[in-house]
Amino acid sequence: MHRRLIAPGALAASLLLAIPASAASYSPGAPGIGDPYYPAYGNGGYDVSHYDLRLTYQPRTDRLEGTATLLARTTEDLSQFNLDFLLDVSEVRVNGAKASFTTSGEHELEITPKNPLPKDTAVTVVVRYSGVPSTKTAYGFTSWHRTPDGGVGANEPEAAWWWFPSNDHPLDKATYDVSVAVPDGSQAISNGTLQSTSSRAGWTRYNWRSNKPQATYLATLAVGRFDITTGTSESGIPIVNAYSKDLGDNYGAARASVERTGEVADWLAEYFGPYPFNALGGYVPNTNTGYALETQTRPFYSPRQFASGTNVSVVVHELAHQWYGDSVSVAGWKDIWINEGFARYAQWLWSEHEGEGTAQEIADYTYASRPADDPFWAVAPGDPGAENQFHLAVYDRGALTLQALRNEIGDEAFFAVLKGWPRRHALGNATVGDFVKYAESVSGRPLAALFDTWLHQPSKPGTPAARAASIEPRAEKTPVRPKSWKKIAATNSVHDH
Ligand SMILES: [Zn+2]
Repeated sequence: MHRRLIAPGALAASLLLAIPASAASYSPGAPGIGDPYYPAYGNGGYDVSHYDLRLTYQPRTDRLEGTATLLARTTEDLSQFNLDFLLDVSEVRVNGAKASFTTSGEHELEITPKNPLPKDTAVTVVVRYSGVPSTKTAYGFTSWHRTPDGGVGANEPEAAWWWFPSNDHPLDKATYDVSVAVPDGSQAISNGTLQSTSSRAGWTRYNWRSNKPQATYLATLAVGRFDITTGTSESGIPIVNAYSKDLGDNYGAARASVERTGEVADWLAEYFGPYPFNALGGYVPNTNTGYALETQTRPFYSPRQFASGTNVSVVVHELAHQWYGDSVSVAGWKDIWINEGFARYAQWLWSEHEGEGTAQEIADYTYASRPADDPFWAVAPGDPGAENQFHLAVYDRGALTLQALRNEIGDEAFFAVLKGWPRRHALGNATVGDFVKYAESVSGRPLAALFDTWLHQPSKPGTPAARAASIEPRAEKTPVRPKSWKKIAATNSVHDH
């Protein structure tokens, strides 16, 4: 019943008769996008192209309020559809008309538009909302981190529910305008480029724009009292970094690490090709969370990452994700290796660059220092299971897989693969299987057996496999621990994403 298309008046009745579609073809969109690891994440029936978020945040009370405008396109005839969201909604409009809504499950906002939505049409959804994000939990946790001077939304695989309604899955990427008003003296940090600021009656509004497709979990918002530095990388990308004024003893080390962002991004571009976005940076809020996260164009770092001194390795990791994870995103969360294995391997390459141990030495040490009965080997990075999505094996065994690949196909083909992949799937999505096929096509070698051994078997690859991949299996003599080992391990002991 394409009622939305019908002009009011006498014509309506005859049009209704003329259109054969029946109400029966309209049904509710699925409450999940179809990811077996997280069945309720994302939603079915539509695709979002743009999020416009106009918000106000009060750091003193952690109260967030505002309006989200989503531009979407239907992929099915919809009588109803869901968004993923936790804050309190006061009004929803779909194509201008008030829609009814209700909540269900852990984080579902069910919206019933006044008129059903035909497949393949543009839809504008406006959601007015407010709430105190730090008081909201789903599955018993929160991704909104209260700080002494504000709050931070950053987590993986879910962070958006606490600050904007979304189709929360990497398969549905979109562009963003994030506009946040905060009391004078505080700053609002988000992704992309700061387009403008404006001040009125004691409040300052920050207008950020991400004009390249961005996964929902890579959108971030931080409000606090920050020192902001700006610059430009040698390759011409503008840089905005932000450091909480309240980092205490970690302030110097945090700044000495994150200020290397431009240099590190240019260095990574030699391996991965041109930087995929038009903004760079990083931010360090005063949070006690243990992880860092590759939030697009502007990674989030925890002060704890710098508690032992400078840590450029974690900057390398999060910036490597801008190619491997952000520009080329997972198609499903089981594909997490194509994010973490490569970001870890970038740290190995950085170690080599810094003269603190070659990738081969780190691979040999990783292999030799864990006996076959170490539970580490029971996790297969190629499909680790939701409960092991961020297991150390996804990182370390994931990078070991890349060293095995490098030794199998040689440096020339290996580095051609590393550089070609981000170009081939730029700003899109891909699977582990896609990567295996790509490596085979570039190298001209059958690689299914190698990837099966290193990526998919829930056991330690045996000595023959290790020898074949030139990973040195010395049972009695553990290889010398590379100098960078502690730094890379420290990065991980606080669970970097
Ligand atoms: Zn990571």
